Amino acid sequence: MASIAENIAAIQNRLPEGTKLIAVSKTKPNEVIMEAYDAGHRVFGENKVQELVAKYEALPKDIEWHMIGHLQRNKVKFIVPFVHLIHGVDSFRLLKEINKQGKNISGVIDVLLQVHIAQEDTKFGFSKEELLEMLESDEFQAMEHVRICGLMGMATYTEDNDLIKKEFGSLAYLFGELKASNFREADYFNQLSMGMSSDYEFAVQKGSTMVRVGSSIFGSRNYN
Ligand SMILES: *Cc1c(COP(=O)(O)O)cnc(C)c1O
Repeated sequence: MASIAENIAAIQNRLPEGTKLIAVSKTKPNEVIMEAYDAGHRVFGENKVQELVAKYEALPKDIEWHMIGHLQRNKVKFIVPFVHLIHGVDSFRLLKEINKQGKNISGVIDVLLQVHIAQEDTKFGFSKEELLEMLESDEFQAMEHVRICGLMGMATYTEDNDLIKKEFGSLAYLFGELKASNFREADYFNQLSMGMSSDYEFAVQKGSTMVRVGSSIFGSRNYN
């Protein structure tokens, strides 16, 4: 079996220059994360606030932590002081809470807006219409403690590669449209987070700038 370091190197080799590999370490113990760390990796993703905070506290402080999962509003305050990027902002109410907590620490929190691109209705995210409505509202435009760095999406879990490519393509298209309109003046609007172990190569073909890969690095997860 390949080591964690070898898995990371193999994936890096398949990513274009400048595409960020987020090692999704959810459910994995600190010793396993340290194996990746000792191999030089510094960018990790978690999807549960409690686990993210515990790992942040226990592990080296030069790790860049990404919150990739669904985030509950009452937990925003626990991660705002240290999180590098919040990927799954899927409602205006959540964004408002992040803005409020950003204000409390006199900071500006980097986030991605999650767009619903999959066929399953279990996956969170804005529709295009909801997104545009929010972006055009006065309340959105007045927010000073969040910075929208781009979009995030998850494709349908399917063997149908054409569907996956189509979904990633639609997110990339929306990203391009927003870059040319609402975010025309915003050079920080430049991240497109899409792709996981099973589909990151398609995501990269469609212009992903950040892939979130767990099981292809760390092996499968045991939930209990
Ligand atoms: C778990 C998770 C991933 C990584 O999934 P793998 O299939 O293990 O690569 C990516 N994104 C999100 C939002 C996740 O929750």
